[in-house]
Amino acid sequence: MVKDIFETHIMYLKGVGPKKAKLLTDELNIHTFNDLLNYFPFRYIDKSKIFKVKDITSDNVWFQLKGTISNVKSVGDKRTRYITATFQDDTGKIELIWFRGLSWIKSQFSPDKEYVIFGKPSVFKNRFNFVHPEVEDYEKIEGNIVQNRLEGIYNSTEKLKSSGLGSKGFSRLIRQLLNQTSEQIRETLPEYIVNHYHLLDRKSALLNIHFPSDQNIIEKARYRLKFEELLLIHFQILQQKIYLKQKVKGHVFEKVGSLLNDFYEKHLPFELTNAQKRVIKEIRADLKSGKQMNRLLQGDVGSGKTLVALMTMLIALDNGYQASLMAPTEILATQHYKTLKQMLGDMDITIELLTGSTPKKKRTEIQQSLEDGSLHILTGTHALIEETVQFKNLGFVVIDEQHRFGVEQRARLWKKNKIPPHVLVMTATPIPRTLAMTVYGNLDVSVIDELPPGRKQVKTVHYWESKRLRVNGFIRQKIKEGRQVYIVFPLISESEKLDLRNLMEGYETLVREFPPPEFQVSVVHGKMKSNDKEFEMKRFVEGKTDIMVSTTVIEVGVDVPNASVMVIENAERFGLSQLHQLRGRVGRGADQSYCILMSGNKLSKEGRKRLEVMVSTSDGFKIAEADLQLRGPGDLQGTQQSGILNLKIANLASDGELVAKTHKIAAYILEHDELLEKPENKLVKQQLEQIKKGGQNWGRIS
Ligand code: ADP
Ligand code: MG
Repeated sequence: MVKDIFETHIMYLKGVGPKKAKLLTDELNIHTFNDLLNYFPFRYIDKSKIFKVKDITSDNVWFQLKGTISNVKSVGDKRTRYITATFQDDTGKIELIWFRGLSWIKSQFSPDKEYVIFGKPSVFKNRFNFVHPEVEDYEKIEGNIVQNRLEGIYNSTEKLKSSGLGSKGFSRLIRQLLNQTSEQIRETLPEYIVNHYHLLDRKSALLNIHFPSDQNIIEKARYRLKFEELLLIHFQILQQKIYLKQKVKGHVFEKVGSLLNDFYEKHLPFELTNAQKRVIKEIRADLKSGKQMNRLLQGDVGSGKTLVALMTMLIALDNGYQASLMAPTEILATQHYKTLKQMLGDMDITIELLTGSTPKKKRTEIQQSLEDGSLHILTGTHALIEETVQFKNLGFVVIDEQHRFGVEQRARLWKKNKIPPHVLVMTATPIPRTLAMTVYGNLDVSVIDELPPGRKQVKTVHYWESKRLRVNGFIRQKIKEGRQVYIVFPLISESEKLDLRNLMEGYETLVREFPPPEFQVSVVHGKMKSNDKEFEMKRFVEGKTDIMVSTTVIEVGVDVPNASVMVIENAERFGLSQLHQLRGRVGRGADQSYCILMSGNKLSKEGRKRLEVMVSTSDGFKIAEADLQLRGPGDLQGTQQSGILNLKIANLASDGELVAKTHKIAAYILEHDELLEKPENKLVKQQLEQIKKGGQNWGRIS
């Protein structure tokens, strides 16, 4: 077969060579012609319009002006020298400034020529100026101004820039590449798809994404390339899912035995919600199917996921298997252990807790009983997946708060048996639809969309610091009524010391405001010894203290129904999903609960928006969606390890509709041609094989 020219190493492109090639590879993972061709501009500047000096604003936008340059002169002494010049059109004057390339600049401009300058104005001494504007001879570009004046801007790095590969350098290389190869660009999508969805053909898309002829075609080119990128991702993920469903065997749990029945009839203190019932049914169907279950259980804080986990674990036990529940932190694992133990009451079921701080002797005991099968349920942290932990017959694993566990860690659990255990992943951070289809696309999804009855909506307000007295008065009143209060301070590793001081000062102020013996205040933060933390937590849980001052260690975990007020200090510094989790700590008892978001007066636009979202809704899905919009998928928990972020052009936050559309298309095609063997799908199949060879495979994420 003739070698595909686009597979040629980038080093052989004219103007590159071994040195630049190495830089391109190291810095941007560009190896081949194809990689460079798929390195797209992230935005465009429009040089098709000429503005007037009087139009200039400080809105941080680019301006192109036409006029004369005069009065060029050096300013300052030898070491501080720079050059200024006066630019003038028929509406006014503006100063131009250069700090580099001085002698060259000085001899450049002729006073009776017209120039076109381009740049972003800055403000100095209350006047606009241009620092290092681009300057071009008007005569030379005259005909070009309206046409072909959209310039793609490429991301670059410091190292690349110093080798001449800034945005303009990229533009040059890509033009060179296209001149050399554009005749050989082939279509990669099946014709019927291109036609049916009115997509730009691949060649036009690539030419126009780099060198657009007008604004309109940029959109078409982007759409076509995003479409293709997303479609291929869906194909990979869905094929992976089909593969798992067909090939990976699972234990068959046929019986609903005495343990589940016994629990349901004698130990369940309340009626299940309809959502809980539905989800248990979905899980049971998986457990009977003979295939491994890989299910994601989404449900807001307090929706009763733990109970669902317990009941499904009982099914495993009824069928003669062991079950395990893994949580991301010691506090949470301990809490689960206690909750499960309490719910099981006097049932004949053994359950143990294994964490990093389990003493050696206990550890050996647990290990023994796991291997001989006398231990039925093991809860714990990462300690569970250590090599030394061996089960007799692990049949079912529940993972709480999936985003804190990496892919590798989960895969290790599978390796513990010939037939992998069923896996239920629980998350209280709702996952926006677009991410559910992509990042989590190979999991089945169940949703608990109903809270247990009797829950009152938490009232949420945002107060500025000036309302402090009022907030204190409110806290005092609630404590007098017998309630308890959380006060949470941010603690971010980058500013840890400052934050900790802030928390301790906050604590001291509070103790002055709420002095003993009338009031009792607990404090817990990550830097405390585990024992001390435990002690303080316990006092609060038992109602011995009124106020719990803490960092986000309480984010996951403690369940104190009597606590009805949550005050979040510097709330603008928390992420949306964190705020939502924190708020979920209250509203668990019968009383009306409150969440008070305190902030300083200076809020960023995004910070303000976050607080507005919190005040306006308590719907976890709406909050997750807003979070995705505000931050983009890059910062969302769980997305970092999935590889999905290496998207070249599509964006999971802003291209939601296209994500859904291409998902549907891929699913439909696979439904009719599972292995993509029909001739009309040949191109897709080839592309997927190509991607696999390149080692990118989004399908393997859980
Ligand atoms: P999640 O883990 O989803 O945040 P939990 O399982 O901790 O929620 O449940 C929160 C609280 O609601 C617990 O105290 C639990 O006992 C209670 N609960 C769960 N299901 C129900 C139900 N169907 N009716 C009443 N209370 C319930
Ligand atoms: Mg929970």
